[in-house]
Amino acid sequence: MPQESLLTPPESVAHAQPVHFAPPVRRAQVAASAPQRWRVEDVQALLNLPFNELLFRAQTVHRAHWPAGDIELATLLSVKTGGCPENCGYCPQSAGFDTGVQAQKLMSVDEVRHAAQAAKDAGATRFCMGAAWRAPKDRDIEKVAELVRTVKDLGLQSCATLGMLEKHQAVALRDAGLDYYNHNLDTAPEHYAAIVDTRSYQDRLDTLAHVRAAGISVCCGGIVGMGETPVHRAGLIAQLANLDPYPESVPINSLVRVPGTPLADAEPIDPLDFVRVIAVARITMPTARVRLSAGRQQLGEPVQALCFLAGANSIFYGDKLLVTGNPDADADRRLLDKLGYATRPISIEQDEHA
Ligand code: SF4
Repeated sequence: MPQESLLTPPESVAHAQPVHFAPPVRRAQVAASAPQRWRVEDVQALLNLPFNELLFRAQTVHRAHWPAGDIELATLLSVKTGGCPENCGYCPQSAGFDTGVQAQKLMSVDEVRHAAQAAKDAGATRFCMGAAWRAPKDRDIEKVAELVRTVKDLGLQSCATLGMLEKHQAVALRDAGLDYYNHNLDTAPEHYAAIVDTRSYQDRLDTLAHVRAAGISVCCGGIVGMGETPVHRAGLIAQLANLDPYPESVPINSLVRVPGTPLADAEPIDPLDFVRVIAVARITMPTARVRLSAGRQQLGEPVQALCFLAGANSIFYGDKLLVTGNPDADADRRLLDKLGYATRPISIEQDEHA
């Protein structure tokens, strides 16, 4: 199909900007029965655009859906660290890899209340709890439900990332007041088996479906720099954008190569290719919070600035993402000040794979 026919603007964007804006047609607008709104080749065509053209289109979509200069600050708390039986090749929390991460059991209600109160005192509006489980047992869900209620009692939004969920577990978390659940697709289906083989891509999609069906908002993204091809990157974005509806939050991680993990020596992604992925996430999921997640420390200020131009409007804030490094909060403040951004109140969010 000629590229021009893929690049017709959504109505809202076309009216917002008197320019020849041209993101691909969302397939649902063409044929309601079409199973996919975005084909991988459509996303690939975007990724392959000249860099400035891609950023112009991404920024145009961004400004049509979000206020200028609005960046959400998010922080992550690990409530149960390490000792995970999964073998995700990027993750220092897998029990199968010698990464020096010390396993810690689930934090107590008092510990979490203390951390959540401190976060609220610092301006937090949302508090997320990450736990390194393959899949929580029902008794784990009961404990996390108590943590969720504790967070809610403080007047904070709650979110969690706990691994795979069954339907009744998602319902139990919803009933406890959980607002968001993070569960990443990681990469394209075709590359998934090279990264983890202790659970399937369909397992991930099933958990996302349970979360969505329970009425919990979805946070779902992936990781680049894991030896994937450009087609795999397009495939990941297509998977995310074709979720119906697409996630409210889309964390995009740049692999942090942790010694001891199988991906410790992976070829780093070209920083400009990372910016391209951010831009295409913005174009294909206009109303999602696109979050710069793990790996931000290695991007440096200029690349982060390009990511904001490409449509990222959320960052992790604080000096640690579960067990990997992150720019310190003062450095973030300085960068955002330099760029002239207004920041939303600090919120506590998540990324399962940081
Ligand atoms: S990414 Fe999550 S599921 Fe995979 S090994 Fe790490 S903690 Fe376990």
